[in-house]
Amino acid sequence: MAGKVYIVGAGPGAADLLTLRAAALLRKATIVLHDDLVPAEILELCADSAQIINVGKRCGRHGRSQEQINALMVWHAREPQSQTIVRLKSGDPAVFGRLGEELDALRRAGVEFEIVPGVTAASAAAASAKITLTDRRAASALVVVTAHNARNESLSRAMFEPARSTYAIYMPGPDYAATVKGLVESGQEPSTPCAVVSNAGRADEEVRYLTLGDLASVKGIPAPALLIVGDVARRIQPGTDPDLPNLLNRTSHLIDGNDPGIPAISLQP
Ligand code: SAH
Repeated sequence: MAGKVYIVGAGPGAADLLTLRAAALLRKATIVLHDDLVPAEILELCADSAQIINVGKRCGRHGRSQEQINALMVWHAREPQSQTIVRLKSGDPAVFGRLGEELDALRRAGVEFEIVPGVTAASAAAASAKITLTDRRAASALVVVTAHNARNESLSRAMFEPARSTYAIYMPGPDYAATVKGLVESGQEPSTPCAVVSNAGRADEEVRYLTLGDLASVKGIPAPALLIVGDVARRIQPGTDPDLPNLLNRTSHLIDGNDPGIPAISLQP
């Protein structure tokens, strides 16, 4: 039986800002692969029998390359005895966490996975600073951006090009045609991929992958919903190559095998 990988957000570093779902998975995990920013008090939730591996980039000579981390997840998922693998990342795993490369590897290898969101640093920092990021009297947009990006660009206007941006649009309905019209008028192409997620994280969640052009005529999308617009929202079928534009370093499917702890394995199904 194949194992399953849970990609879990550990939150900003305080154990009591962990979600209940994350805590339950940590107690159940047989293998935990975690980053450096995850504090010891969170790892203490794991069972004594769990194998806990720091795959962080800052742990000296034991630091793993991204390819090695991908290979470790796939390798453990394929062990004959079914494993519950938790890939624990700080904050929310899908915000600047190099999650894209890990999802590609899991999809290519046909490994089942689930993402458990966490409290991202922006939310935690705003709470600490006692401010609201979207005070309606002052802001109608929240741009989440990194000063260290994979293209080595400095913080410049070029980073905010519509084609290089993801928009997470709150309260997008009920008039989706009007929302699409506004986006197209502000420079988005009608062919831009988008995903509308109703009731995210609840038992009745629904995800629709479409293009902005198609979204304009879709009816009956349940509220509450969040609209994600941009190339990242393109639907990717398991076992296929993602075909996202401008992606970096997607060629290496094999690890070098120099580390005796990790076998050189193919990440293909
Ligand atoms: N996935 C994480 C971000 C990983 S990138 C998240 O959603 O929060 C790492 C960066 O996140 C750090 O360099 C820092 O800028 C920020 N960060 C993470 N934890 C933080 C914390 N507790 N307080 C402030 N910033 C934090």
